[in-house]
Amino acid sequence: MAIDADEYRSAANELLDAGAHDRLDTMRHSAAHVMAAAVLELFPEARLGIGPAIKDGFYYDFDLPRPLTPVDLEAIEAKMREQVAADLAFERSELDRPAALERLEGEEQPFKVEIVRELPDEEAEVVSFYRHGEFSDLCRGPHLASTADLGPFKLLNSAAAYWRGDETRPMLQRIYGTVWETQEDLDRYLWRLEQARARDHRRLGRELDLFTFHPESPAAPFWHPKGMVLWRALEAWSREVRADGGFSEVRTPSLVRRELWEQSGHWDLYQDNMFVLDDYDHPSGLKPMNCPQEILVYKTRSRSYRDLPMRFADYSVLFRKELTGALAGMFRVRQLTQDDSHVFCRDDQVADELRLALSLVNRQFAPFGFQPRFKLATRPDKKLGSDEFWDMAEGRLREALEVEELPWTLDPGGAAFYAPKIDVFIDDALGREWQMATVQLDYQLPQRFDLEYRTADGGFERPAMIHYAIYGSFERFTGVITEHFAGAFPLWLAPVQAVIIPIADRHIEYAGRVRDALAAAGLRAEVDERSERMQAKLRDAQEQQIPVMLVVGDRDQEAGAVSPRLRTGRSRQGVPLEEFVDHLRARNEARELWPYEDNAPAD
Ligand SMILES: [Zn+2]
Ligand SMILES: [Zn+2]
Repeated sequence: MAIDADEYRSAANELLDAGAHDRLDTMRHSAAHVMAAAVLELFPEARLGIGPAIKDGFYYDFDLPRPLTPVDLEAIEAKMREQVAADLAFERSELDRPAALERLEGEEQPFKVEIVRELPDEEAEVVSFYRHGEFSDLCRGPHLASTADLGPFKLLNSAAAYWRGDETRPMLQRIYGTVWETQEDLDRYLWRLEQARARDHRRLGRELDLFTFHPESPAAPFWHPKGMVLWRALEAWSREVRADGGFSEVRTPSLVRRELWEQSGHWDLYQDNMFVLDDYDHPSGLKPMNCPQEILVYKTRSRSYRDLPMRFADYSVLFRKELTGALAGMFRVRQLTQDDSHVFCRDDQVADELRLALSLVNRQFAPFGFQPRFKLATRPDKKLGSDEFWDMAEGRLREALEVEELPWTLDPGGAAFYAPKIDVFIDDALGREWQMATVQLDYQLPQRFDLEYRTADGGFERPAMIHYAIYGSFERFTGVITEHFAGAFPLWLAPVQAVIIPIADRHIEYAGRVRDALAAAGLRAEVDERSERMQAKLRDAQEQQIPVMLVVGDRDQEAGAVSPRLRTGRSRQGVPLEEFVDHLRARNEARELWPYEDNAPAD
């Protein structure tokens, strides 16, 4: 793993913001100093890079004579504990630039020398250092009073990182660690890390036979039959939400000529993210978005004020030229499908349409147990349209959020080049934040395409457009929910909802009748007719995270009953078949979050 320039910059900025650190950040940065001191004890020839606090922990970059091993990390941790036990005070001292350079050159710390040389003059008058024990580091602070104040910590791993994120500069070794106020906090964080690894959707996708990735088509998933069942369940729910919201579905082509992208502005502003190719003599692009195509549908006839709002849903395939180097699975794909929505409306309808969009977002996420949070993203530097347009558009979005009384914050400069937007975030079972839906209000595309509608008094006005996808893409959303549920999907999403396990061959026929009764109720059930032992079949069903297992034997067969056993461990005996089918059908149709148990450790 290598660290890229952006990551480097954000870490460096955090370092510069050290003055604003809260206690936990201060503790994390102090831990980085303690780690650097430990590394220097073990490797006196180590050259130091930077060592900031980061989200959930800290790191420090080192130039070392050899690659680190896990055993080294243990040795470094042990040296760190010695410093904590020694109760060493952090002491600040100040030098001017020439004196600071003399000291760092004497210590043979070329990276630190570089930092001090490049300090702006106004910051170089006072260069501060922090010392604890024998170790001193160029640093703005602040720090804890003493190494004894360090909370419980752990070193996690090491990774390669170029100095300043620049691949022409030396490659350093970055050691990541984490430190917390209490042992409980540390344990909980380590549990989350372990769970994140265990829930990796690429691994679960393969184990549960949902989807795989192949080098023959980088950054694009291959959906297996069970994965497609999941996809169709997600899609059916999205279609139901859109239909109730008054949407009509359209479908538009993937390969679209350059002229349309020029008119939409994508050719100038988004071409780097597009697959551009020649359709014989015509330069064309595979569509990264549906908007310009929906506009062509709108423009096929003259529209009147009575036709508006017009709401189009589009589930066609999009292509985005993403880098393929990163092993991001579903989180960075080049071929994707959105539950895309475009609304054309009059100005006096914008407020209602934005509120409709936000209410559909809340509704569509409800059966996953997600409680969305909202961020209003405002104009970026590189943008289309005048400031007046942006003032009005941003004001409308703000109003919709306030009227709906939704939990929201501001994201200055975070908008797409053609419109402000509301980004929707959810937290998963591990407390990780994911950006999902986006709602965009747009006056630019209607202007670029000269859209209009006829008003009541016979004149012409320009409609506004609202764009949104709620899942975002099916690919990414599938990745998120696979990790959120750890593959144990609620009944309504589970590719196989019930498996029927006949105890002996003489029960196979009855097992088939149970399956048919479930299928007639719209449920996905299978009979496990393999000649394995019952316990082995139960274990396999459990591993495949099938919500309901029905073992049928003589007693059930005679009584026309089933004995359900849930994935969560609960079981019942001799439930009349009809009663059980009705029960399961109701839970399925209501898209209940069942059977689902949050397996996070108790607080
Ligand atoms: Zn420091
Ligand atoms: Zn759009």
